[in-house]
Amino acid sequence: MAQTHILGYPRIGADRELKKAQEAYWRGDISQQQLLQVGTDIRRANWQAQSDAGLDFVAVGDFAWYDQVLNHSLMFGVVADRFVDGAAENKLDQYFRLARGRAPSGQPVAASAMTKWFDTNYHYLVPEFDAEQAFCLDSGWLLAEVREAQAQAHRAKPVLIGPLTYLWLGRGVDNALDLLPNLLPCYKQLLAQLGELGVAWVQMDEPILGLDLPAEWRSAFSGTYQEISAAAGNPKLLLTTYFSPLRENLPLAFSLPVDGVHIDCVRAPEELESAVALVGEGQVLSAGVLNGRNVWRADLHKWQRTLKPLAAQLGDRLWLSASCSLLHSPVDLKTETALPQAQKQKLAYSRQKLAELAQLQQLLQEEAAAAEAGTEQGESTHSVAEKLRDTWREQCYLERASVQAKRWQLPLLPTTTIGSFPQTDLLRKVRRQYRNGEISEEDYLEHLRAEIAEAIRRQEILGLDVLVHGEAERNDMVEYFGEQLAGFVHTGNGWVQSYGSRCVKPPIIFGDISRPQAMTVTWSRYAQSLTSKPVKGMLTGPVTILNWSFPREDIHRSESCLQIARALREEVLDLEAAGIGIIQIDEPALREGVPLRAAGHADYFAWAVGCFRYTCSAVKPETQIHTHMCYSNFNAIMDAIVSLDADVITIESARSDLRLLSAFADKTGGYPNEIGPGIYDIHSPNVPEREELVERLKKIAQVVPVERLWVNPDCGLKTRSWAEVGSSLLNMVAAARAVRDEL
Ligand code: GLN
Ligand code: ZN
Repeated sequence: MAQTHILGYPRIGADRELKKAQEAYWRGDISQQQLLQVGTDIRRANWQAQSDAGLDFVAVGDFAWYDQVLNHSLMFGVVADRFVDGAAENKLDQYFRLARGRAPSGQPVAASAMTKWFDTNYHYLVPEFDAEQAFCLDSGWLLAEVREAQAQAHRAKPVLIGPLTYLWLGRGVDNALDLLPNLLPCYKQLLAQLGELGVAWVQMDEPILGLDLPAEWRSAFSGTYQEISAAAGNPKLLLTTYFSPLRENLPLAFSLPVDGVHIDCVRAPEELESAVALVGEGQVLSAGVLNGRNVWRADLHKWQRTLKPLAAQLGDRLWLSASCSLLHSPVDLKTETALPQAQKQKLAYSRQKLAELAQLQQLLQEEAAAAEAGTEQGESTHSVAEKLRDTWREQCYLERASVQAKRWQLPLLPTTTIGSFPQTDLLRKVRRQYRNGEISEEDYLEHLRAEIAEAIRRQEILGLDVLVHGEAERNDMVEYFGEQLAGFVHTGNGWVQSYGSRCVKPPIIFGDISRPQAMTVTWSRYAQSLTSKPVKGMLTGPVTILNWSFPREDIHRSESCLQIARALREEVLDLEAAGIGIIQIDEPALREGVPLRAAGHADYFAWAVGCFRYTCSAVKPETQIHTHMCYSNFNAIMDAIVSLDADVITIESARSDLRLLSAFADKTGGYPNEIGPGIYDIHSPNVPEREELVERLKKIAQVVPVERLWVNPDCGLKTRSWAEVGSSLLNMVAAARAVRDEL
């Protein structure tokens, strides 16, 4: 009989207990003992859920106080000097200082860098290596959790990040592979310890096998796994991969001296057949058939038909699982009180996915049902790209720029901001009261108008050139549009961990998307009525709305994207008709949807970029389209960014010390349109000095021609206070004027 297991379970708790406890501990409201107890309770509940569902193993080691990669860094002694603070250091506090720079005890320090986990919206803490990096094993926490699970009568399968993926994720050395010989003894020792505890199987995550790996990394696999799997008495190894097809690495994975291989059958269903051909006599094939990154119930009968022959052939060497760790799914549909039954019926959160696995295991014992009439097949990405072929604006940038210059009469180095202004405690309170029905809609709208008027007044005093209305009406840049577009469903409790204690609640794209009415026009028009300076309209782009939502599974992502683009195109035209002549369409998540393999890039960009252009290609030449993005490393996607063909792009650049800028400057001929590289980091509460800003601006002006240069912060200002924003922008405007005067 096929076996069932999962790669990991969400650790936030069904009611975000972990988040609440972490934050209470950091504030000093609960003791470390109380925090530890919350962790114990969550682990117990998670294991019990897996065992109640009848899974053959429970995942252990997937719990983390902040991040699973950080767990490994501490386990291997990868702790940069600045985090070592005194002899009698409190271990958990040291962990939090690594994660977030501060903890109830110990000195504040610069936190570890954080970056996105493959193509997900989860962020991990980057291991910081140095050239003489030593590793030493401190596996106490993991062994304790294994014992904890065993004491609760579970069959524990510890979950580890494999040595090659762990090294790949780190920074600080030219070639992390050089560190491999020093690291492997830790893994050997750890496996021996787990063997002593009677652990039968260990899961080794090596998701980098789904990337376009450099040759030396590929060839390191064989020796690495020879070495760590050699010792007798060790647990068996399940090599796990996810998020991407393995392609040329598929034979490699099965050729390694491991006892099983897990593949992601959601991202690469086509590889199942080859995997069956490759799986060795004594090897297990773990098929990740349930989508670990989405909220829909699976088509179990379809999988029954596909897997039935494999189950007959492999018996208990076929394992059933979700595609990846359920960390990327919400926890339990039972806690979802906001949704009607008819919608809930179509959904499966993590807890329900456990039951689906057990059900599938059962179905494989039964006769397969005949195939039902197939669900309607969506259009192919090809046809969406085809429809989007002609999405360029009629005039080219240079022609547009000259009419826009005449219309707007902006000075050189025009100053602007990215869109949002502080979301004050009062604003949040008023929104909460409105949502709870404690104040009337008219009172709420009146308050928003007052916020907008205040934002406009402040910007006029500061002397900014292009104003924004401040986004007071939005608490989230995707949710706001999702709530107004038809086709989206908003959950009450569909939280997924983004990083540390931060969770996000992506809306679900439930059906076809359309725009019943204008979404932002009233606010923009109101703001514009208060000033003679231009006010930018502010929209979230189609690709970002798509990438920050749970997508449909019955049609291709590109089709939903096009539907969103159509809705936004109507909005853009309505804004233009209302006299809003500068419109910003934010795409901070464009990069998130990029496939992990280069082979998929062209296809993705064809429709994603096409959808963006489609939102704004019908506007008049004198209407200026802006876009905004904020992340590091544009190099790989520069061509796509150029072909968005926005008149102006604002990007994050101060935070990464202007490194980003090189991508925009190095490209032959430079970035062809206008660009506003952020000149100060909005993540820090520090107010940038005028002189510092002048200097940065001059540096930027060396690589971007001043005729095409804008002056703005890195990103929106909603997380800052008005005091910080006022002083920072005052200095920014002064710096722009100073540099302007010298030109
Ligand atoms: N316009 C948005 C804001 O200013 C952009 C946010 C973002 O880039 N993530 O908040
Ligand atoms: Zn941003």
